[in-house]
Amino acid sequence: MGNLADISQRALEVLARVALIAAEDTRHTAGLLSHYGLRTPLTACHEHNEEKLVPRLLERLAAGEDLALVSDAGTPLISDPGYPLVAAARAAGLRVVPIPGPNAAICALSAAGLPSDRFVFLGFPPRTHAKRREWFVTLAQEPGTLIFYEAGNRVLATLADLAASLGPDRRAVVARELTKHFETFLDGTLAGLVPRIQEDPDQQKGEFVLLVEGCRDRDATGLEGERVLRILARELPLKQAAALAAEISGDKKNRLYTLGLASRT
Ligand code: SAM
Repeated sequence: MGNLADISQRALEVLARVALIAAEDTRHTAGLLSHYGLRTPLTACHEHNEEKLVPRLLERLAAGEDLALVSDAGTPLISDPGYPLVAAARAAGLRVVPIPGPNAAICALSAAGLPSDRFVFLGFPPRTHAKRREWFVTLAQEPGTLIFYEAGNRVLATLADLAASLGPDRRAVVARELTKHFETFLDGTLAGLVPRIQEDPDQQKGEFVLLVEGCRDRDATGLEGERVLRILARELPLKQAAALAAEISGDKKNRLYTLGLASRT
């Protein structure tokens, strides 16, 4: 998320009064603090130092100080650092108070026009083509709206893999640069969105949330295939289990084999 004006009054009040702010990138957060005239000390808290930093922060919390945790933009812990600190603080019986604020996934869902009663946040897809396709196949029967984060240089390849794994006709929305100057929502089918984005290089720039409608008519054959596969794979080599599960259920052998592989990793 990227609009300074979206920070809440409560978040600013907390940032002003805590003893220390643990920030994903201190330079980035220093910009935010100076914009609002705040001088609270900062310490870096990112994936490379978080494990080491946690005991020091817990000591300060246990001594009665209030600390804040922020990420560069959006909500900490959501595809961002913070989980080890929050988990350790809770495990130590310390109070952890959420300060609600922007989050790209929820922001996109709230305006995408796809079903919002049930959804699954899936973070970033794997970076390689084969791993992505394999993973998407495992999501084919999920009834909730699927929400992914993706980088601009991979958005096209990921959409193409989604179309190949979930079927070309699924409705999808590409939400780009939310809350920023070039905010765009493109909607259509997975297969229809690929050429639209391919033809316009601007649509491959910036930050993206991809939303895909969930499985509308869950396929009884597919569900039965997965159930039988789970039972057989406990006793048999995967190849044989997938072949037998396909024969029993009428589902596709390759799909079941790929699912079996994915559930082993
Ligand atoms: N913690 C953040 C949150 O609460 O949304 C997400 C951090 S994650 C490292 C960054 C990813 O979130 C981006 O690569 C993009 O997929 C998504 N994202 C963040 N800001 C966005 C925006 N303004 N528009 C679209 N997607 C965004």
